[in-house]
This record gives sequence, C-alpha cells and structure tokens, in this order.
Amino acid sequence: MANTEFEKNLKYLPLRDTRIDDPFWNGCVRLVTGEILPYQYDSLWDRIPGAPPSRCIRNLRVAAGLEEGEFEGWVFQDTDLAKWLEAAAYSLAALPDKKLRDTAEDMIDLVLRAQQPNGYLNSYFTVKYPGHQFCNLKEGHELYTAGHFIEAAVAWFQVTGEDRFLNAMRRFADLICDVFHTPDYADAVPGHEEIELALYRLYEVTGEEKYRAMAYDFINRRGTTDYLSREHTLPRFIDVWHDRGPYIPEYAQAHLPVREQTTAEGHAVRALYLYSAMADLAGSYHDEALLTACERLYDNIVERRMYLTGGIGSSGTLERFTVDYDLPNDTAYAESCASIALAMFCKRMARVTGDAKYMDTAELAIYNTVLAGIAMDGRSFFYVNPLEVIPDQCIPATDRAHVKPVRQKWFGCACCPPNIARTLASLGEYVLLEGEDSVRVNLLISGTYKTRLHGVPVELTVDSSLPWEGRAVLRLRAEKPVAGKLLIRVPEYAEDPAFTADGPVVPVMDRGYAAFDVSGTETRVTFTFGMTARLIYANPRVSADAGKVAVKKGPLVYCLEEMDNGAGLASLRIDTTKALKEVPGGGLRDCVTIEAEGERLTWSGRLYSTRAPDAVPAKLTFIPYCFWGNRTPGEMTVWVNKK
Ligand SMILES: [Zn+2]
Repeated sequence: MANTEFEKNLKYLPLRDTRIDDPFWNGCVRLVTGEILPYQYDSLWDRIPGAPPSRCIRNLRVAAGLEEGEFEGWVFQDTDLAKWLEAAAYSLAALPDKKLRDTAEDMIDLVLRAQQPNGYLNSYFTVKYPGHQFCNLKEGHELYTAGHFIEAAVAWFQVTGEDRFLNAMRRFADLICDVFHTPDYADAVPGHEEIELALYRLYEVTGEEKYRAMAYDFINRRGTTDYLSREHTLPRFIDVWHDRGPYIPEYAQAHLPVREQTTAEGHAVRALYLYSAMADLAGSYHDEALLTACERLYDNIVERRMYLTGGIGSSGTLERFTVDYDLPNDTAYAESCASIALAMFCKRMARVTGDAKYMDTAELAIYNTVLAGIAMDGRSFFYVNPLEVIPDQCIPATDRAHVKPVRQKWFGCACCPPNIARTLASLGEYVLLEGEDSVRVNLLISGTYKTRLHGVPVELTVDSSLPWEGRAVLRLRAEKPVAGKLLIRVPEYAEDPAFTADGPVVPVMDRGYAAFDVSGTETRVTFTFGMTARLIYANPRVSADAGKVAVKKGPLVYCLEEMDNGAGLASLRIDTTKALKEVPGGGLRDCVTIEAEGERLTWSGRLYSTRAPDAVPAKLTFIPYCFWGNRTPGEMTVWVNKK
C-alpha cells in the first residue's frame, strides 16, 4: 500500500498560459530565446569556432539523402536536435518569434525527410547499418532517441497546434508498438530509458491507449527478463560500442523488477527517466505497488545519495549512483541531465500524489545544479557539477578527468546543453498544478498564470521576492464568482511562515501546502517567511563532508570562489559561532552574497610537520553556487572546514 493517496486529475499548466515575469528568472528565460537557442543551433551546424563539432544536423542530412558522407559522433547524436526542437517549441509558447519558428519548421522538415518509409527514425543506424533496426537495445539508444523526438513532437503540437510532426512521430511510435509486441521482442526493454515517459506524453495528447500500454509493458518487463544480457548472442545484434565492458544489470536498472527496487542504481539519467515514467504510469493506472516503489526510490535518493546541490550520480565512471553516503565533492559527476531528470521525476510525483515535498527537491535541483550548468551569457555549459574544484588537479587520465573548472563551449557528447535549454524554457510547468477545484502553487516564481476552477477561467498573479527574500503576494481573479481552493507550497526552508488575506489567517495544511478557500471573484494572499542564510551540516556518514559546513539561503546553496577568497580554499575555516551576514546587491546579477567570519591557516612550506598550523583571521565571502565560474577561473568549494 502506498503511503500517500493518488491525487486525481492534477495537470500541468499549458506553457502558453504561463507568463513568467520574475527578476531572478527573467534573465534565464530570455536567454533561452535570445542566446541559447541561436547558439545551440549554430553548434548543431558545427559553426562555433573552437567548439567540438556536433555533426548532428549533418548526420540527419546524410540520412535524408541531402548530402553524401559518413555518420559521425555518438549513436544518440540526433537527440541534440530533438531537445533543441522541444526547447524551441516551449520558447515560442512564451515569446512568438517568426525567425525561430521558421528555423524550427526547417528542422522538422529535415527530421521528416530522414524518417524511413516504415516510420523508423535514427540517423546512426540509417546511415551506418541501413535496413538494421532495433538490433542493439543495450547501447544503441534507438528507443532513447525515439523518445526525445516524440517529446519534441508533443511539445510542438501543444504549442503550435500543428500535427504534422506529431503524426510523423506517431508513425514511429506505431512501429515501436508493433515491433515490441512481436515474439522476437516480447521481453525486450531499452537499455537507456526515455521512450517510456515519451510514449506516456504521446498518450496524454492523443488519447491513444496503445502508447500508454507500450510504456507500461516496458516498465513491467524491466528486471524480469534477461534480454539485455543475452542480446549480444542474437543473430541481429550489432556491436555499436566495441570498447564497452561487460553488461551490468544495475547500470540499466534491470537488476530487479521495478516494483521491488529499493535503491537508486546505475546510470543516473537512465534511472530518473525510468522513475519519471513509473510515476506517470503509477498515477495513470492507480498502481499502488509502482507508486510505493517510486516513494522508496525517492527517499533513498534524497536521504542517502544526493548532493546538497540536488546533484545525483556521484561516480564519473559510468555516470552512476554508487552506494549510500558516497558523495565525494571533488570527483563528483552530478551530470546536469541527471538533476534535470530528478526535477522531472519530482514534478511528476507532486502531480500524482499532491504532496509538496517533492517540489522541495525539484526546486533544489533547478536553482542549483541545473542553473549552474549554464553560464550567465548562455554560451558555455557544465556537463559535470562538482562541489569542489582545484583547477590544477583536473587533469586527464585521473579520476578528475571529467571535471572541468570552466564551462565548455560545447561537448562532443552534448546531451546537457539542449536539455538545460528545454528545462529553462518549460519552467512554467513547474510553477503550478491545476486541479478540477484547486490551484496549487509549487514554485514562488513571479508571473501571470491562466488556469481554471470548476471550468471557470481564473488568472493567478504571483509577485515573489524569492530567492532573496521570503515574501510573495498571490492574487487569484476569476471571471465570475467561483469556489475552490488555492494551495501554496510552504518550502521546507521557510521559517515562521505567515499568511495574511483580509487579516492574518492560519491556513489548513495539506501535505506541505497551505490551503485557502477561494470564493467570489478575487482572492489575495500574502505569504511571508524567514529565509535567513543558514549553516548546513552533513550526516557524518558522508565522509567527504566530515568536519565541514555549507551555507544555504532558501533554495540557494552557496560556495566560496578563489576570486573573493584567495587561493587555497581548503586553508580557510569558518567560525560557526559567529552570525552570517547577508550583503544584498552583489556584483553577480544583483545577488545576495554572504559573509562569514573565520580564519586562514598558514603553513611553513614542507609537506608534513609536527607543528600545528598557525591561523590568521579571515573573512569568507560566499556566492550562490548557481553563479560560480562566471568570473576569473579558479578554485571553488561548497563545503568549508569548520573552525
Ligand atoms: Zn547530459
């Protein structure tokens, strides 16, 4: 039995009904249209000097017969364009832009020309192994790539109402539903999950039952068959990654039936895409055992396997979860895509259960790791998100080879940049959930949101001071008198939450939401809470953080940078008996910086000594982690030694 009930019929708001107008987020949201999408489009065409070539568009042009050539890049290279198209659709929902729309239409034309007569679409197999399809599910990423194209087509349809792309991807989905119900594929599952959540999205917009059923089949098969471990013995198998090691079932979350899984295992992005689909399907089928598994996996992640920044997947080897409390700071992997996937899972869990706690984690991931993944100018990116960097130590052929001390212009394997773009462009989906008789505010992000109560159009405006101050004014206006509920998530970090409507009110609490009755045509609620900078301690079982503290203010985790604190951040110690001082109006996007008192250890020069170090007083200056690496490159650390 699941701990929580299913919350019926909660929906995300269509992005065209959300208008974010928020001092903190405006910059990022505008960046998507103004900088990120044009920059990434140039990257996909290999037009960025000094950046590793993508070859993404070229591969599709070769597959479409528009030019001669070989396939180059990763097997999943097509997904960079798919995610770009999805982000472009979301961006158009917020801001109509003829040039962007025309460009996206051209790219849809290209995708459709690369599609095969039977509906199949994948430039790698089409160019390299014509006629061979679904012959390496373990590493071929065909179903993963299919999922991203389907997601893009769903987004394009939702925003523009045009069904050309959607219908083409339905033909692909139909092919998948046919093939994966033939005897040869009756127990087959994808190595890299994504198709499951995509088919569910396709079911939601088309109402076609077989897409939901196929997604459910993939979920139900996983961990119950040996397909992935015996696939290489099948006559149709094509070895796409010759240097891959032996297959590890945990790596693909195929070690146990999904309802029996208790710990987050394997490749972190694969895991969280799987859990996202499990959450969708648990809600859709009212599958209590599946929901219980989602709750257990969520608890395992947030209580034992997640960085303070919302990063997950601590191991650079295989980009994977390891064991409980294994959260090294300097060798951390914490891929941007994995935190995006975590936010996606949490958004779904909040929708399915109506419990606000999941949005605490989604918010943490978005405000910290996801946002840190992109530079303030939108033109460089982190794939890996360490919590401690000493640039000189990030050298090739070591366990920090994957850690980059500065954001990169692009990557040969560029899954993260377009994934960040689509997430920022669809932020509106995270803000609200619409019920039949309720409006749930999940994130206090300023803007105007059009929704409905009992079918009556209502407009919610949010005027929020987050993340710098705990204050938000919410106004709900209805076209005609209507009754219902306004639920406002009370963040876990909110100190002394207080509400005023026509005077102070003490709301009923409902699974992390403060619930207010709505009546008449206008309801106004002011929500205030303390959000002072706080010291954070880690469970001592996290050996990497032993004897250290971190600083957090509201949803934002803070860090020290060399630029503000000098080199040798490990020689700094914070005095935890002294108050933290918040300094508004810092140089980075007018952020609040935080000052702490402490000391710097001094040393005589030899490697080891019987003499304890001396200490001199020092001031420590923290900036938000999401903004690190935007000035002179240097050291960075989240966890700081305690005096
Ligand atoms: Zn990625």
